[in-house]
Amino acid sequence: MPNVPELFGSLVFNDATMKERLPKDTYKALKKTIQDGKPLDINIANVVAHAMKEWAIENGATHFTHWFQPMTGITAEKHDSFISPTPDGKVIMEFSGKELIKGEPDASSFPSGGIRATFEARGYTAWDPTSYAFIKEGSLCIPTAFCSYTGEVLDKKTPLLRSMECISQQAVRVLRTFGDTTTTRVLTTVGPEQEYFLVDKEVYKKRKDLIYCGRTLFGARPPKGQELDDHYFGSIKPRVAAYMKDLDEELWKLGIYAKTKHNEVAPAQHELAPIFDTTNIATDHNQLTMEVMKKVADKHGLVCLLHEKPFAGVNGSGKHNNWSISTNTGKNLLDPSKNPRENTQFLVFLAAVIKAVDEHQDLLRVSVASAGNDHRLGANEAPPAIISMFLGDELTAVLESVETGKDYKAQDVKMMDTNVDVLPNFVKDTTDRNRTSPFAFTGNKFEFRMLGSSENIACANIMLNTAVADVLEEFADVLEKADDVKSAAEELVKKTIKEHKRIIFNGNNYSDEWVAEAERRGLLNLRTLPDALPYYISDKNIKLFQKHNIYTPVEIKARYEIQLENYAKILNIEALTALDMAKKDIVPAVSEYIKELAKTASLVKSVDSEICTCAETELIKKLSSLLSSFTKKIDELDKAVVGAKEVDGVLETAVYYKDSVLASMQELRAVADEMEQNMSSKLWPYPSYGTMLFSV
Ligand code: ADP
Ligand code: MG
Repeated sequence: MPNVPELFGSLVFNDATMKERLPKDTYKALKKTIQDGKPLDINIANVVAHAMKEWAIENGATHFTHWFQPMTGITAEKHDSFISPTPDGKVIMEFSGKELIKGEPDASSFPSGGIRATFEARGYTAWDPTSYAFIKEGSLCIPTAFCSYTGEVLDKKTPLLRSMECISQQAVRVLRTFGDTTTTRVLTTVGPEQEYFLVDKEVYKKRKDLIYCGRTLFGARPPKGQELDDHYFGSIKPRVAAYMKDLDEELWKLGIYAKTKHNEVAPAQHELAPIFDTTNIATDHNQLTMEVMKKVADKHGLVCLLHEKPFAGVNGSGKHNNWSISTNTGKNLLDPSKNPRENTQFLVFLAAVIKAVDEHQDLLRVSVASAGNDHRLGANEAPPAIISMFLGDELTAVLESVETGKDYKAQDVKMMDTNVDVLPNFVKDTTDRNRTSPFAFTGNKFEFRMLGSSENIACANIMLNTAVADVLEEFADVLEKADDVKSAAEELVKKTIKEHKRIIFNGNNYSDEWVAEAERRGLLNLRTLPDALPYYISDKNIKLFQKHNIYTPVEIKARYEIQLENYAKILNIEALTALDMAKKDIVPAVSEYIKELAKTASLVKSVDSEICTCAETELIKKLSSLLSSFTKKIDELDKAVVGAKEVDGVLETAVYYKDSVLASMQELRAVADEMEQNMSSKLWPYPSYGTMLFSV
């Protein structure tokens, strides 16, 4: 049994380690920098760097790296060793304050969406001292922000930090009007629940589609999928349990509060949830978690799939972004307290979120757009592409009372009567779970459920923070001028509910009626990435980001282009992989089987020409006909891929890939899957869905 408290954070240069290792003055100065978000003095940085290096070396590190999150969505690192030559031909281990606070990686290999063409290739990384340094595989990793020579932001971290700063400022203004004089900062908190699949490594290696694309491009449905619902919360298999144990320990060493683990709905699908943290740290930790998940899987002879939809026909994977706002004194501003109707301050913050989500549905949708997530949003297990909010019965009644001015009767505490004496009766959660809502209030936080499992959560939180900050600013402007804050606030909430209640929907988001109803309400339904992305660069959104200093117009445009380009690239890789599999493996396999059948038939006939070989003949006819339609589909896909070169413009290209290439791939797959169902499994070139999903 590991000693968890001792293990926890053992690879992190955290507060306790800093306190222990830094001179008192340095520690204090660094803490102040962290708390106030001020730049670090170089003399202090030198002392910190020295202590960090000593600690890192004692813990087996030989290198250091600035760890950052470029716009590709993954993390990047360039490792330098601590060694520095001495005149006598030996080396000493060195690490300076300058190296700690600033790095200069060559930015030219990271996507910049045109920023690079206009400006210089050089990029800078700058330490984010609010996120602790840690050791990963012999390297001291320093969490940093990444920008270009002229200051254009090239990563996901910087805008996230800016958005946090922005919502803090506006929320503090609102708090002041309610007489709060002690809060100096407001923090957004996030707990991302991470879903993933585990498959056996040997099985994985036999699937080109999983290797190149992270998802299966072919595969007939297995006889058994998730229909029995016997996997969700089911007992965890020994091999998976061993993986999860190891994973927990690795994450704990990195100071990540891995807390909950369980099976998910689909076979081979699981979930890990950490305890929530400040948003930038939660983001860093989620990036690390995804990386560690993959590495630990490898050690166990497994592969961890983080793609949003590795298998058609069974649930895909998402990431629930639990989000709240709290003061630096630890008060959760989205906690309704015992009597939410009387808690005007809570209602103001709630109203701000409602208005923000309604006004910026488009941005929230953009923030979760990816080629992978397109396969998931709107499928039956995931929230639809339409954004709406679930508030639950109690809050809905509270808001109705504010809107209509009618009295609010506090709802009776509903007791669940289990009718079994030995089981205690428990209080029914007043925000009864609605699993179909993309944006649900769950007690004292909102759960944004549209994120894809592989996505960097920074994007969603940048949008969310900025949108809410924008509304809070407007609210603060009103409240600061009011003589009677309480009644002005009531008015504000009332007006907000009237104008934005269309975004609230407590019903079943998966139903067709909702799609029609949402359309009547004027809510957006942006089904795919190419549908959503143009909203990124609308006037409204460019103004919003510019006003709050999150992105310049150039930076938004760059992000828009990168996302579209990336989408087209992913679809292109998928199409080429599908073609490769189709031509090199599937066609020869089917043709081989036909040959076998024909041989059998003629052998049988040679024994006795009277024996009927109709079974073979029928199957040969069926497969030959499928095979000929398959080769036609191959030609079509081939042409579609070539045709992409003729299309001009990033948006047009993305749309083309969706409408022509993806559509053509799906047709190709349909034929392949039918052939698979009629083939000898011995001759089918790939492990089946059944083998993959039940391999562990
Ligand atoms: P589930 O949605 O599966 O029922 P839980 O209710 O246990 O899960 O919580 C989900 C996540 O919400 C956890 O990561 C938890 O830490 C996080 N969470 C709880 N409170 C907050 C908060 N105030 N801010 C952000 N995240 C929170
Ligand atoms: Mg959840």
